[in-house]
Amino acid sequence: MIRDDDHTATDLSHLRGGETARNHDARTIAALTANPGCARRGVMDAAAVDKDAVARHLGFGAPFGQSQFAITRGNAFEAQVKADGCAELLALLRDGLGLDIPEVAYDDLESVGTESREVRHTRTRHLMARALESGEGTMFDHPLLRLDIAGQRAYLEPDVIAFQLGGRFHVVEVKSFAVVDGQAEPEQVAAAARQSAVYVLALRELVAGLGHDPERVSHEVFLVCPENFSNRPTATPVDVRPQLAVVRRQLARLTRAEDIARTMPDGLTFALDEGLPDAVRAVEARYAPECMSSCEMALFCRDEARACGATGTLGRPVRDELGGVDSVVTALDLARGVREPSEDMAETAEQLRVAARLRREALASAPAPAVPPRDTASPLVGVPAHGADVLERTA
Ligand code: SF4
Repeated sequence: MIRDDDHTATDLSHLRGGETARNHDARTIAALTANPGCARRGVMDAAAVDKDAVARHLGFGAPFGQSQFAITRGNAFEAQVKADGCAELLALLRDGLGLDIPEVAYDDLESVGTESREVRHTRTRHLMARALESGEGTMFDHPLLRLDIAGQRAYLEPDVIAFQLGGRFHVVEVKSFAVVDGQAEPEQVAAAARQSAVYVLALRELVAGLGHDPERVSHEVFLVCPENFSNRPTATPVDVRPQLAVVRRQLARLTRAEDIARTMPDGLTFALDEGLPDAVRAVEARYAPECMSSCEMALFCRDEARACGATGTLGRPVRDELGGVDSVVTALDLARGVREPSEDMAETAEQLRVAARLRREALASAPAPAVPPRDTASPLVGVPAHGADVLERTA
């Protein structure tokens, strides 16, 4: 008997052009939540397409993710912190944070089931079940977790430790960016918090699946980083409740893989051949400047969005404020009153006409400048000055 799941797996494999499915990690899952309204990203991620390979084949490869130097440095720091059964980490948690961790059992799951992720995941479940029942087991290194992404099972292979304290599990995230005088780069902390939230979510699902209260996995994670450019680690507790709420909500909003596969044009495939540009363009994108830091396809989509004058190139706030007006040319035509708006655009069109009139009045009453101004107010509500510049050029 052929089940729906089999059809979906076949459809998704066809979308990948027969390539191996790309495994998610917490970084890619956290990034998944960055632009959930983008169908292009949605279908590629649901089918586990290697977006980096696609972008490179299209001639828009981008240096994405960590540099080799950062990866090497991160691995060395992590190895140092975890050496000798996490001795340095334990000292840090005991002395630095004053946590009462009486005795330690350390389980490293990395060597378990190297041939099969399912075996390693089963071992993770087994150890967690024992720890939940008996309180035995303090530290788990490299647990293999699972999370449902758009209806598809994704394995997470975190370089992370879950440790048990007072009957609750905490995630420890080891990062190689520096904490200088108690401060770290806010963007890096935010990204680490989002990734940790993904781990917390996956651990909670595992704990719930074992019949225990998912709240036994704490929302408080410990971020371990080098201190003041040295290799000395420092630990900081981080409350990831806001990130948890966002990740949970966005994952729930991701369209299920089988639904996406069903809506794609017949025979669509992202195989790395001459048909790839057309295949990619066949799926609608919602480019925004934020894509540059969260999606491998960003250079291709930015080029495409600029070529068609998409409002998304001016930033997500502008696009959202313009409602269903996707093109800068349409926005300008509506503002000038030379295009009749459809019913659903009537309100936006009215706001654009008012903004354009106010702009004209402001310019008319302003004293003549010595030099023609380049950064004048925008005819669009909420468009920054540089956006107005783009609008003028696009028009
Ligand atoms: S870069 Fe392109 S595919 Fe990726 S999220 Fe942005 S618009 Fe979507």
